[in-house]
Amino acid sequence: MYADIIVDISREKLDKTFEYNIPKELEKNIHPGVRVDITFGARKLTGYVISIKDNPSIETSKIKDILGICPASVSTDSEMIELAYFIHEEFGGSINAALKTVIPVSKSVKHVERKSIVLNIKNDEALDELLLKYKKRAKAKFRLLEALVTDGDLSYEEVTKKLCVASATIKAMEIEGVISLVSDTVYRNPIKDTDRGEYNITLNDAQNKVYEDILGHMKKNEYSQHLIYGITGSGKTEVYIKLIDEVIKEGKQAIVLIPEIALTFQTVMRFRRKFKDRVSIINSRLSAGERYDQFERAKKGDIDIMIGPRSALFTPFKNLSLIIIDEEHENSYKSETVPKYSTKEVAAFRMKQRNGTLVLGSATPSVDSFYNCVQNKCYLHKLFKRAKESVLPKVSVVDMRKELENGNKSMFSDELDRLIKDRLEKHEQIMLFLNRRGYAGFISCRKCGHVPKCPHCDVSLSFHKSPNGNILNCHYCGYSIPEYRLCPKCGSKYIGIFGTGTQKVEEELHKRYPSARVLRMDADTTSGKNGHEEVLVPFANHEADILVGTQMIVKGHDFPLVTLVGVIAADTSLYASDYRAAERTFELLTQAAGRAGRGEVLGNVVIQTYTPDNYSIESAARQDYEGFYNTEINYRNLMRYPPVVHMVVLLITSTDEKKVADAADYIKEKTYALNSYTKDIKIIGPANASIFKLNDMYRKVIYMKAQDKEDLVKIKNELETEFLSGRFCEIYKSVNVSFDFDPYNGV
Ligand code: ADP
Ligand code: ZN
Ligand code: ZN
Repeated sequence: MYADIIVDISREKLDKTFEYNIPKELEKNIHPGVRVDITFGARKLTGYVISIKDNPSIETSKIKDILGICPASVSTDSEMIELAYFIHEEFGGSINAALKTVIPVSKSVKHVERKSIVLNIKNDEALDELLLKYKKRAKAKFRLLEALVTDGDLSYEEVTKKLCVASATIKAMEIEGVISLVSDTVYRNPIKDTDRGEYNITLNDAQNKVYEDILGHMKKNEYSQHLIYGITGSGKTEVYIKLIDEVIKEGKQAIVLIPEIALTFQTVMRFRRKFKDRVSIINSRLSAGERYDQFERAKKGDIDIMIGPRSALFTPFKNLSLIIIDEEHENSYKSETVPKYSTKEVAAFRMKQRNGTLVLGSATPSVDSFYNCVQNKCYLHKLFKRAKESVLPKVSVVDMRKELENGNKSMFSDELDRLIKDRLEKHEQIMLFLNRRGYAGFISCRKCGHVPKCPHCDVSLSFHKSPNGNILNCHYCGYSIPEYRLCPKCGSKYIGIFGTGTQKVEEELHKRYPSARVLRMDADTTSGKNGHEEVLVPFANHEADILVGTQMIVKGHDFPLVTLVGVIAADTSLYASDYRAAERTFELLTQAAGRAGRGEVLGNVVIQTYTPDNYSIESAARQDYEGFYNTEINYRNLMRYPPVVHMVVLLITSTDEKKVADAADYIKEKTYALNSYTKDIKIIGPANASIFKLNDMYRKVIYMKAQDKEDLVKIKNELETEFLSGRFCEIYKSVNVSFDFDPYNGV
């Protein structure tokens, strides 16, 4: 038997496996993930077993023996290695990159250490004698000893600060052998809360049915995947809590993934109320040290539940048996950097490793998750009633072309205008949603048509108003220049501002409804440390009447006073250049509509659009997910798009425009040659990416589609070998290639 082994994971260049012989006596104990001692060249190193096979690919005389198994190999680690290997294989990128994703914390993180003082003398008589001796001649020593006798171990800080015992005195007593200093690591707890409310929810019948169904599968101790398709407010979170409770009772652990933007203080508190200190969180605001600590706490068994965005998936629990992915339709579950992994697929793999349960939840399930249910790969559970009494909002679609015909040139339709006035009068709250930040989309010379573009990216600059002078800004790289009054091309002063951004909506609101208090929430107003809360908390406290924002206002916030939601322009996301544009539009509109009428009062939703007949807008207005799904899956089927087939996009980038084109052609040739034995792959391209130049990098794409994902993985593997050590690697050193399977965003 032979093993493929990865040597020393910190070495970037050794991104391949080496073969070693498994001595007979070790055969029983060697499996993927086990850490072993090996000789590598002249050195003795450690490595991780990745896979085992019967036949070596090189001459057996050249293969060395595995020396032995490292005593410190823990089973969680072996699972994590296996997980990294899975990511590397299924999504591309180096094994090292995959290992770093899975084991993201570096060793150099500083620990916070706490020193405590413990008493060494246990004999009562000896203690009494010593106390007497100190009492006469050494007051400080007496104080410390007395405190240790009555209170037990004391922290070093307490002793020096509160008891006023000098460190020299402590040292002296340590030398005498009376006391010892012990240090232990303190793991920081990132949740700072004072809320200690009680948990007292009893599931209603609908929730209980879902819970019982999933529990039934959980009890079988075999992998199962579930989708809870339940409207916003139907009580999905309470079902998650109940399931987690069950898992913990059995001494196992759970991970709850929530998109960062929806991971609000209120959400965390709901879990804390039930599970107290057994819960921790991870988010991007934690320092590297705090993050490391959370993983250590999980490893040591100090916590049972980890809540957080994507990266929380890699929490090294020893006995993980439940992963919940809330808002599973969210784009943030796909990594946009190498390895470009899908959180759902990786979570499924983790649960298959452990015979655990994967639960997805959403009010607007992704087309691929729903498709899995239709294909019987995932159990579907539905929750259609809101848990708290409240009525679904009334939705209307306004055709903005007709508004224009009727002489309304403003960005607010008559209906939206009427409802805004009505709500302001009633002191109810309003949310207005728009998919573009800044003041306007772009500016253009009305005389010669010149549009200023970013010198580093292939996009036009957006217009932003600012008290320190207006600017033109690139939304991709951040490049910005001051606004200009004269066209730099022809000198004309007729410069037009086109498109509407959140800033312009805010300005219009001030003009039209001068008494209204308006807040704006977009990437520009939330860049501070507590970004979102700085806007959301005052809005929740009704310090404003209207909240204007980009899609970040649509996600998971609960404002009972909001009774009107307006979508200023529903078409912006439809024109995005990828096959998921309709899905995203449907999702956004449905989620936006879900914000209205969370309280007892009837809510209204107004969707303004230039394409009222589009099926994603129509079905969102009817809140008809299944209607949308059926149309969409037919379209995907017809066009051969995921999830009906699998697709991978190769992104080829370089600062050298010619090099990137040549490299793309080279890859295309190579791919056609490889495809001769996997004929079923359809190859499209190379073509320019939809943004050809980004951050000074030129970008080309090649698409491949296949019914069977494994065919694509095979080609990816062949190509990666070529990039690492083939001719490509010699000719195109400066060219970077990455793979993105079933991509979420157009490139
Ligand atoms: P979802 O996660 O589906 O959006 P939540 O779990 O957040 O829904 O539930 C919406 C609201 O209803 C929350 O305030 C929650 O505490 C409450 N709720 C849910 N289930 C129950 C229940 N069985 N009894 C009482 N309140 C409930
Ligand atoms: Zn001009
Ligand atoms: Zn730019």
